[in-house]
Amino acid sequence: MAIPENKLAFDGGWNYAPAPESTDHIVVKKRYGLFINGDFRAPEKGRYFDTLNPANEEKLSRVAMASQADVDKAVKAARKAYTGPWSRMKAKERGKYIFRIARMIQERAREFAVIESLDGGKPIRESRDVDVPLAAAHFFYYAGWADKLEYAFPGRKAKALGVAGQVIPWNFPLLMASWKIAPALACGNTVVLKPAETTPLTALKLAEVIADAGLPDGVVNIVTGAGDTGAAIVTHPGVDKVAFTGSTNVGRIIQKALAGTNKKYTLELGGKAANIIFADAAIDQAVEGIVNGIFFNQGHVCCAGSRLLVQESVADEVIEKLKDRMETLIVGDPLDKNTDIGAINSRMQLEKIESYLKIGQSEGGEMHQSSCSLPKSGYWCRPTIFTGVSQSSRVVQEEIFGPVLAIQTFRTYDEALTKANNTPYGLSGGVWTDKGSKIFKMTQGIRAGVIWANTFNKFDPTSPFGGYKESGMGREGGLHGLGAYVKLEA
Ligand code: NAP
Ligand code: MG
Repeated sequence: MAIPENKLAFDGGWNYAPAPESTDHIVVKKRYGLFINGDFRAPEKGRYFDTLNPANEEKLSRVAMASQADVDKAVKAARKAYTGPWSRMKAKERGKYIFRIARMIQERAREFAVIESLDGGKPIRESRDVDVPLAAAHFFYYAGWADKLEYAFPGRKAKALGVAGQVIPWNFPLLMASWKIAPALACGNTVVLKPAETTPLTALKLAEVIADAGLPDGVVNIVTGAGDTGAAIVTHPGVDKVAFTGSTNVGRIIQKALAGTNKKYTLELGGKAANIIFADAAIDQAVEGIVNGIFFNQGHVCCAGSRLLVQESVADEVIEKLKDRMETLIVGDPLDKNTDIGAINSRMQLEKIESYLKIGQSEGGEMHQSSCSLPKSGYWCRPTIFTGVSQSSRVVQEEIFGPVLAIQTFRTYDEALTKANNTPYGLSGGVWTDKGSKIFKMTQGIRAGVIWANTFNKFDPTSPFGGYKESGMGREGGLHGLGAYVKLEA
């Protein structure tokens, strides 16, 4: 059967007719207040900031800038809810509320997905198939634990910590909020959460869901703002536990601020993961894994496979196949279901990525980018690879957080391992080989929290996630994620 011309045409690259997701069914208000004590309210100082669509630089909404006084109110509301209804409620009942949030996220999945793509720039295929389903899955998973903590910690009594202060970044806004809120509630804590300045909208939508789910007032409070708001949460004396996901630099500031306090904390920070491809790997699958590892979500992924270590004998083949595959990647409108690579999250992030492209070239790296055209407005970066880089190159050592892959070769297992471990980070890694024995040997040698074998960037609520070295402290997800929100008594 002939393929209709408007559906698919081959002219050296693949061109698909646009298939944009509709925005008719979503509601984004012109202005959002702070979600404190079960209600949206104006910020004390009356200050608001714009949140933009990074794909066209148009304003989506104005969002409240929370001051110290607002944070104080949110923490007090969370404390009142903690000592009041939430800690008195039977665990089984608490679990029902969390289940209800999970189901309501599923019911409103399309709205969440579209708003996530509008506010953050990620392709709708990802927000629809990854972010939103995983967010619901985390609430489902932790809802199940709420009345089973005695099985999670046999022989010990797990007690809630109190008020959890949570600060999250812009790369997986709804998913990071879910990673943090679901286990906190399951363990009986209350929450004050701050989303990132550039992507506050899905957290505010989640606040609407939480209100509709009928949670007691103050159990979850969402305060929007920038770094100062985050700092006000982290340092507030009424906060018992801090959960932070973001850059290693801010993680360091937070760790210093918390030194000497009694606050429990987890830090999920940066990464510079290596995908390691042995000559005996299924090469086509490995190439697909590299593409997924670094170009997924524009490389805005802490555990992105931003380095490739490929065994010398197959390096030419892998790089050629990778370049071919890069040519087929569609960069453009995040709401188009054909799009592989969406918009870079903000102008600041684009400038950071572009500065690394210059650094990579000035250090002698050979840069190759796909030849695709880019939209006229908005923030965009073509998929990019660097070859001819050395272990000391900054594009090999430092986190770029964009669709930029640094490629090196290796000959022996030991060389691969030494290179893989030779960065300050240790969040994730990937191994591609036909031999199970090599997988076991490598995964035991790589100093990173998550290691995938013959796949990459797979997530599941049952699986703990977290870093070694400068990639962070503590684990989120799975049974381990519960431990961060309880104190254990005999
Ligand atoms: P960031 O600058 O560290 O910001 C993360 C969050 O912290 C944002 O909500 C931010 O507010 C807030 N913040 C900034 N300064 C603060 C301070 N002094 N005290 C308390 N909070 C503060 O990171 P980003 O640039 O948004 O995100 C990219 C970075 O996050 C990357 O480096 C990446 O490695 C890391 N990341 C790690 C993981 C992980 O799980 N390990 C996941 C995602 C991202 P505003 O942004 O609103 O100003
Ligand atoms: Mg935005």
